[in-house]
Amino acid sequence: MTVEILKNYINGKWVESETEKTRDVINPANGELLAQTPLCTKEEALFAIKAAKASFWRWRTTPAQSRIRYLYDFRDALEENFDELAEMVTLEHGKTLDESRGEYRRTIENIEAATHIPSLQMGYNFEDIASGIDEMVIKQPLGVFFCVAPFNFPVMVPAWFWPYAIATGNTYIVKPSDQCPISMVRQFELLDEIGFPDGVINLLHGGSEVVSTLIESPDTVGLSFVGSTRIGKLLYKKCGEMGKRVQVQGGAKNFITIMPDADIERTIPNIITSFYGNTGQRCLAGGVLLTVGDIHEPIKKSLVEAAVQIKIGKGIDEDIHMGPLASKSGMDKVLSYIEKGIEEGAELILDGRNIKVDGTLSEGFFIGPTIFDKVTSDMVIAQEEIFGPVIPIINVKNLDEAIDIINANRYGNASSLFTSSGKAAREYQYRVLAGNIGINIGVAAPIATFPFSGMKDSFKGDLHGQGRSGIDFFTEDKVVISRWL
Ligand code: NAD
Repeated sequence: MTVEILKNYINGKWVESETEKTRDVINPANGELLAQTPLCTKEEALFAIKAAKASFWRWRTTPAQSRIRYLYDFRDALEENFDELAEMVTLEHGKTLDESRGEYRRTIENIEAATHIPSLQMGYNFEDIASGIDEMVIKQPLGVFFCVAPFNFPVMVPAWFWPYAIATGNTYIVKPSDQCPISMVRQFELLDEIGFPDGVINLLHGGSEVVSTLIESPDTVGLSFVGSTRIGKLLYKKCGEMGKRVQVQGGAKNFITIMPDADIERTIPNIITSFYGNTGQRCLAGGVLLTVGDIHEPIKKSLVEAAVQIKIGKGIDEDIHMGPLASKSGMDKVLSYIEKGIEEGAELILDGRNIKVDGTLSEGFFIGPTIFDKVTSDMVIAQEEIFGPVIPIINVKNLDEAIDIINANRYGNASSLFTSSGKAAREYQYRVLAGNIGINIGVAAPIATFPFSGMKDSFKGDLHGQGRSGIDFFTEDKVVISRWL
């Protein structure tokens, strides 16, 4: 059987890589080899940069109204192929079909938001700053931008960036996850059919070699990175040294707090979705549950009752609720955290190990819902990102103790509070050091017109993705002061 080695899409053409280095793309539901990602060479990265740079001026001088016509066409193509595209994400990532559909909805939302560029990219002006002198700001594109994307939302995450970059008049290189690149290849087939001018939007597969080349090139402007904090910090430093614009959205440990006055019945489904949605592989997933005071016991009981109802299976089957982990290494990492939790003395009250799928132990990378009680804030499972379906529960005395634990953690991506008290809610959003706050919302995911925030080790940079910050990232504010005699 020959396995397809995925191609790059550069300067409007599909190009085979000459590299000998590849990474296997595996269907996590059954261990099947789907394709191979070429880990492209420095020369191939330079070729992509050259193409994107060469197309910049013509694209930048194309009126925005014409640029966004391509995005409208792409949006229509995504809608027309919606079911097939969602299945492809499920195949390579393992998430349920409903989760893949949700990912595509958010992708389309970003394409649509970028079509508003004629108003989003507007500058401002003021007349008579001195007698007969006017001043204005124009927001101009800068050149070649690129993203380096993670495996967990293989199509949505690049769409946080590339539609805005090209709508504002820049050209772009997408470096997809080497673990889950197939859906992005399919997106580029659709982009190719739409007929974007050559070089405006390019696809380049690879690992550290191509990323270093993209950062080190004098012909690129900036990087949008989404992935682990460890890699993100390395690239942030490199971008600083090279004088590049950079936004790094890193890892997370999101604390979810439940006050004694929360409505238990309404809260539990939110907690289940927060911790177990996408099999826990979301940067906005719940990471630790903080129960305040006496609500601990009833929450624990209801949570276990709800978790055992979750149907685990292959994402492609419509009636399942939770798919496998996306890779064997991801599964092994989660298993090692479960071992660590036991070793540290937390009480394993629901064990998702050795889970059976369709009545048998599967070839796929499955772990069922797992819950630890009697966790303390100094334990590794309360500190580090597990990225799997595990709920560590810490019982705290009051809201102050909860906020102290949250703010002491190195990450600050998201945090949620469940309560019926407006006072507690205000206190929480005021004091908690996390970029995305949910009040009676388990997954605080900003829509495309708001920035995807993040603080501490979850974000490095000044301008976030999406929203007005996203537009500022891809443009320079140029000031013009004029006097006509
Ligand atoms: P990762 O850091 O392993 O990989 C991310 C990207 O970096 C990939 O494209 C990979 O090819 C590239 N890469 C890996 N090593 C590199 C190196 N040495 N030099 C240059 N590039 C390199 O992350 P992942 O496992 O794909 O994604 C999971 C992580 O992403 C989790 O930590 C999750 O929290 C985070 N994430 C964050 C957000 C957010 O918005 N904050 C969103 C989604 C995922």
